[in-house]
Amino acid sequence: MDRSKLNAATRGIPIPDRMQHLPINDRGFIVPWFVAQTGEREWDFRAIGPGKVSRAVQDDVCWLCGRRLGRYRTFTIGPMCAVNRVTAEPPSHKACCRYAVKACPFLTMPKMVRNEKDMPIGAMQPPGEMIERNPGVTLLWTTLSFQIRGGLFHIGPPNDVEWWAHGRRATREEVVASVESGLPILAATCEGDAECLSALASALRLAEAFFPLAEAAE
Ligand SMILES: [Zn+2]
Repeated sequence: MDRSKLNAATRGIPIPDRMQHLPINDRGFIVPWFVAQTGEREWDFRAIGPGKVSRAVQDDVCWLCGRRLGRYRTFTIGPMCAVNRVTAEPPSHKACCRYAVKACPFLTMPKMVRNEKDMPIGAMQPPGEMIERNPGVTLLWTTLSFQIRGGLFHIGPPNDVEWWAHGRRATREEVVASVESGLPILAATCEGDAECLSALASALRLAEAFFPLAEAAE
């Protein structure tokens, strides 16, 4: 990989060996394996390449580097996925995820809004009830188990979790604020059903056990 082609903002971030074969786009960003290619040297980072989800699952490869996964799988998820434990995106190597949370503008710059206009034909829309917003906090959830139901990944209990924001570890305050801002969206899907709301409250308590400790904040 020609590191001089990398964007100045990301040049100092160590690149995992498994990502070294990936292309660099004209803006100097490494192109993750899942990204849709739209031209000879053009990619649309907002779009998943056709067939990539099923290939990742069938070949058991990393969503970010495309190389074989080990026993532990790391899901890059938004904070609300810690509560409902459901995501549309396949898992990755933890080292690849750590690179993404430091270098990917969508994950390091929460104010950057995903532009839904001009999505390429064939770009996959994730199934299920997705929360369309950039949460500002990203969670790396490493687990030994997951199940696929209804085209979604139901993630198993975590072996470890890392919370990230702005290219660094997130503080407890940021995590709490991020989860609280998303809760009304999840609660609305219960449509006032008491059993559903009670299950959501239990899921929230389970998720809170994995929040970073206040002492760990810088
Ligand atoms: Zn990888």
